[in-house]
Amino acid sequence: PKKIVIHNKTKDELEQMATTFNRMIERLGENIEKQEQFISDASHELKTPLTVIKSYSSLLKRRGLQNNEISAEAIEAIYSEATRIQKMTEMFLNMATAEKENILEVKSVNLNSLFREIQQQLKEAYKREINLHFSQDPIIVQADELKIKQVMIILIDNAIKYSHDKIDVFLDTDDRNAFIRVEDYGMGIPAQEIERVFERFYRVDKARSRETGGTGLGLSIAKNIIKLHKGEIKIKSEEDKGTVVKLIIPK
Ligand code: ADP
Repeated sequence: PKKIVIHNKTKDELEQMATTFNRMIERLGENIEKQEQFISDASHELKTPLTVIKSYSSLLKRRGLQNNEISAEAIEAIYSEATRIQKMTEMFLNMATAEKENILEVKSVNLNSLFREIQQQLKEAYKREINLHFSQDPIIVQADELKIKQVMIILIDNAIKYSHDKIDVFLDTDDRNAFIRVEDYGMGIPAQEIERVFERFYRVDKARSRETGGTGLGLSIAKNIIKLHKGEIKIKSEEDKGTVVKLIIPK
């Protein structure tokens, strides 16, 4: 680190510098607090699947060999909890790099072709109907293509996990912004929980998202990426009717 040399400063200038330093220290403190909170939340979230794995493997050790039903149930549970831990750790790594590089790799992105590519990949992976709605004119934004792709995958992946029907994706534009909507016709989110789904690790119903292998991290990552693009992300949802996620991305 460079040594800071201060000379020939007026009292006012020194006071201003002190204020700036204080603000920097405050911000550093807040960042450390956030990191500590994250480590504690993450450890807590990892503990639950690990406990399940441990108790099922102990059951398998004690009684699994004599009982096919027990061993099938145990293996299934261990497999699905291990998959969740794997997803979670992948997301942690993604978050760590995303936060380190809070800078976007901005270039011209053709949303129409990006969306077609995502549609193709997800349709094959999930065997679900994903419809794209947009006019022929390409919509171009200055954005980080990989990060926008990550957001779209998170949103469509959620729509698939929490519904059984088709998914509709709408793309539109005006002079300044691109507008994206991901709609599903699934279980929806209770009104009082909508604001909380953007929190790290928050899941509306732990049991239902355990079934679908959720980590509670997707939407918080999506929100962070959209914020970096100076855009907006909003959710409208009705229980047992479906969910609409709206994005506004400045062009
Ligand atoms: P997860 O990995 O659990 O899906 P997210 O952060 O992406 O994590 O979402 C947080 C929670 O919000 C989910 O666990 C789920 O309860 C709810 N949710 C998100 N998207 C939808 C949707 N399209 N329909 C219903 N519930 C949703």
